[in-house]
Amino acid sequence: MRAVVYHGPGNKAWEEVPKPQVVEDGDAVVRVDAVTICGTDLHILKGDVPAVTDGRILGHEAVGTVEAVGPAVRTVEPGDKVLVSCITACGTCRFCREARYGQCLGGGGWILGHKIDGTQAEYVRVPFADTSVYPVPDGVAAEDVLMLADILPTGYEVGVLNGAVRPGDTVAVVGAGPIGLSAIMGARLFSPSRIIAIDLADGRLEAAKRFGADTVVNNSRQDPLAAVRDLTGGLGADATIEAVGVPETFEAAVALARPGGHISNVGVHGTPAALHLEEQWIRDITITTGLVDTFSTPTLLRLVAGGQLDAGRFITHHFPMGEFLRAYDVFADAAETGALKVVLTR
Ligand code: ZN
Ligand code: ZN
Repeated sequence: MRAVVYHGPGNKAWEEVPKPQVVEDGDAVVRVDAVTICGTDLHILKGDVPAVTDGRILGHEAVGTVEAVGPAVRTVEPGDKVLVSCITACGTCRFCREARYGQCLGGGGWILGHKIDGTQAEYVRVPFADTSVYPVPDGVAAEDVLMLADILPTGYEVGVLNGAVRPGDTVAVVGAGPIGLSAIMGARLFSPSRIIAIDLADGRLEAAKRFGADTVVNNSRQDPLAAVRDLTGGLGADATIEAVGVPETFEAAVALARPGGHISNVGVHGTPAALHLEEQWIRDITITTGLVDTFSTPTLLRLVAGGQLDAGRFITHHFPMGEFLRAYDVFADAAETGALKVVLTR
C-alpha cells in the first residue's frame, strides 16, 4: 500500500510500505476511505515533535471501513464504517475510566501518526478498537464525520467546555484557523450573546463570520483589548479561547477576559508564554489547558446527524489520495489558498 511517510524535518514521501496487520487482540485494521491533514502534521514536518521518528506514517484523522479485527474486538466487524479518532483509548486505565482518554496510561492517547503509524495511508492499524473507533451514523456523509476526528472535539472540549461558555456570554476567540472556527461553532451551541473573533488575516475573519462570529477584529489594525472592552461595558469577555499557540496570543487571551472570566488555551505552544501574575492575581480568573479527550465525540456525532452542526463547512479542498503531496502544499499555504480542511479520498 501507499502512505505519507515522515523522513525527518522537511521531508515526507507518498511511498510504498507494507500493509498493516492485526498485531494485538484488540486491533482493527481499517481501510482508509477519507483522510485529512492537521496543523499538527505541519508542526511534525518542521521538526517540532521529536517523538515522531524517521519512517513514521503521518496522520491521526480518518473515516474508513473495517477490514479485519483481532479476536478480542466485540463492537465492530469487517465492513463497518467507522471514524478513526485522533485519540486512542485503552479503556481501562485510571484516566480512561475518568473519560480523560487523551491522558491514557495504557498505551493510548495521541499515538496515531505520532508514536505508531497513522492514517495518511491506504490502511491503518487502530489499537483498542472497541474504545477508539466510532460507528458512522447512517445518512451522514463520511467527510462530515471526518471533522470529528480532531478539530471539532478539540474546539468544543478544550475551548468551549473548558471555557465554561454559558448562554448570554461574550466569547472572544483569539485565532480563526480551523481550531478557532471549531470553537466558534461549538460556542454557538450555548447561545452566547456575542462571539468576537480576533485574527491578523482578513480571510480568516471572513470565515469566522460564516462560522458564527458576530464581530471580527483584525489586530493588525485594531486593538483587540479596546474593542472587547468597548463591547462589554469595559469589563472584558466572559470566556476567551486561545487558538493560536504563540506567547502574544496567550497574553492577549488572558488580558481580554473579564474579572472572574475563563481563559481556555487550545493552541499548541512551542515557547514559554508570560503569565502576568502581578496583574492577574487579583482578577479571579481561571486558566485551563488541555489535550482533547474526545469524550464528546458521540455527542458531536448526534449533533451532526441531527443537522445541528454543519461539520462539512470546514472542507475547502478535495484530492484523490495519490495527490497527497499537493494537498499538503495547499493546506500549508492556507493564507494564499484559503484552505481550512482538505479531504483526500480513495
Ligand atoms: Zn490534529
Ligand atoms: Zn487508558
